[in-house]
Amino acid sequence: MSGCVFCKIVAGEIPSTKLYEDEECLAFRDIDPKAPVHFLVVPKRHIGNLMELGLEDDALMGRLMRRAQETARGEGLGEKGARFVVNCKSDGGQTVDHLHIHVLGGRAMKWPPG
Ligand code: AMP
Ligand code: ZN
Repeated sequence: MSGCVFCKIVAGEIPSTKLYEDEECLAFRDIDPKAPVHFLVVPKRHIGNLMELGLEDDALMGRLMRRAQETARGEGLGEKGARFVVNCKSDGGQTVDHLHIHVLGGRAMKWPPG
């Protein structure tokens, strides 16, 4: 989708620090980390947000969560865990309109979020 920052990262038009990549997903470090480890997992296909997911995306989302888990393990978060977050649309605090899973770790997270 033209103009989408994460589509440009997927296309290699904007640089990123990649942690994992396969034919359908990409994990890369957040440019403005909110924790010692903070990366994003995105589908390569443009999906605007979580509300746009359909039945046909069930398996894709399952694989994205598994890739998020595996990449988190690779970042040393397997033992103590991490926060896996999907912000959705305006009330969810989404600022980039391309579905992404945040993975934050390396410190204890607070609850509830702001
Ligand atoms: P959200 O507010 O949930 O939509 O999260 C968007 C995230 O994308 C924020 O944490 C930003 O820091 C991050 N971000 C924006 N542009 C880039 C970029 N070019 N490379 C890596 N992360 C980015
Ligand atoms: Zn996109």
